[in-house]
Amino acid sequence: MSEMAEHIVIVGAGAAGLMAARELACAGRKVTVLEARARCGGRIHQLPLSEFGYPAEGGAEFVHGEAPVTRGLLREAGLSLQEIEGEQWSFDGARLSREERDDPHEAELQALLRDLQDDLPVAEFLRRHFAGNDSASMRHSIERMVEGYDAADPERASTLALREEWMDGGHAPQARIDGGYGALVDFLVADCRRHGVTIHLGCVVSAIEEDGREAVVRCAGGDVHGCSRVILTVPLPLLREIALPASASARLAVTDDIGFGNVIKILLRFARPWWRERHQDLAHMTFLLSEQKIPVWWTQYPSQHAVLTGWFGGPRTLELDSLDPQGLIEAGLGSLAAIFKLPREDVAGELVAASATNWAHDPFARGAYSWATPRTRAAQAILARADGLVSFSGEALYRGPDMGTVEAALASGLETAGLILRR
Ligand SMILES: Cc1cc2nc3c(=O)[nH]c(=O)nc-3n(C[C@H](O)[C@H](O)[C@H](O)COP(=O)(O)OP(=O)(O)OC[C@H]3O[C@@H](n4cnc5c(N)ncnc54)[C@H](O)[C@@H]3O)c2cc1C
Repeated sequence: MSEMAEHIVIVGAGAAGLMAARELACAGRKVTVLEARARCGGRIHQLPLSEFGYPAEGGAEFVHGEAPVTRGLLREAGLSLQEIEGEQWSFDGARLSREERDDPHEAELQALLRDLQDDLPVAEFLRRHFAGNDSASMRHSIERMVEGYDAADPERASTLALREEWMDGGHAPQARIDGGYGALVDFLVADCRRHGVTIHLGCVVSAIEEDGREAVVRCAGGDVHGCSRVILTVPLPLLREIALPASASARLAVTDDIGFGNVIKILLRFARPWWRERHQDLAHMTFLLSEQKIPVWWTQYPSQHAVLTGWFGGPRTLELDSLDPQGLIEAGLGSLAAIFKLPREDVAGELVAASATNWAHDPFARGAYSWATPRTRAAQAILARADGLVSFSGEALYRGPDMGTVEAALASGLETAGLILRR
């Protein structure tokens, strides 16, 4: 094989791209990674340590469930995990209380989910089985979770794909990485470089052409890279913005069958942990759910940082589309003032650092992460087919549980590299 024949270009230096690059470089392939941003990590985005006092996360933060690929990498990198503990609270518009999961319909829901054979959208499932007034609170809490946690539209989201999250008491354990996801990215980048991977930052790929057994990758700045294969790991909404060879663009028709949701994430650092000081019983609070404009909040518990993270996910984030980061920070402060029944100026007066991202506005993400519709598995199978010289990889291509996660991205990168090595 000539040197040219072994060269693989990977578009995107997020979790999937870096994982694939490392795997291919370790197996002796020449690998070039082209990344649009001025940094690696993609939707893993560590905020400045100096601003928040710890490696705060503007993007991915938690390790969900088993996550075998992530945990394997963490062991290699010598990084440890801290399991999430603490209490979940909620604000019903009048008062704060510990959230209890004791819905009278819970057993019926579990049984229906266990026996479910044919997939259907979550909203339809709820209309079919839980239409009555007495189920309104359960319907609401499920829809709130599908929108908020999965960033998905209940009218389109797959019930089968989401049922693991609801069964047996909800989500599997969650954890945070000591040092943050940024430390994992640093490890991958260093390992890639050690194995000879070249990473070009600031390269926005605009077109890929096939010419017989060779591919040509064109960047907006004019750079051109010849290679024998291309792996595209850009987020789903950006795939259509790259001119692709006919065999690859034909497969893209099915991407509409994969959901892609949005998240607004707001980090507010305060001079003091005023919520713990005012309400001693909130000393162990992790999550706080409400119906405010920015509805979900969490602390760094058991770490004691005076930081509250606000979260708003799903289709209704469009309602805040006109807000810039400062407007989002204001909305966050307003929500906290309402929840804790404090004058807005008092909460604002304690603020020492803030960051807010509407991920739909990020030009190289255009949203947060993918979610499954009843047609997603079939779409993924078509996208994963290895026709031509272009492969698709990334979190949206992952066919296991917990789609839309860093684990999904890492596992997909690994799978794509494996397919290429076994060809
Ligand atoms: C706010 C938020 C919170 C999240 N929370 C969690 C969490 O707690 N736990 C979890 O597991 N997951 C979480 N996720 C999801 C997780 O971050 C993603 O699933 C994962 O990081 C995706 O990795 P990827 O490699 O598939 O894509 P990306 O990380 O998006 O990588 C793709 C790369 O391609 C680059 N790119 C785009 N267009 C071009 C182009 N034209 N040319 C060159 N490069 C290009 C992008 O800049 C990017 O670096 C969260 C995501 C967001 C946004």
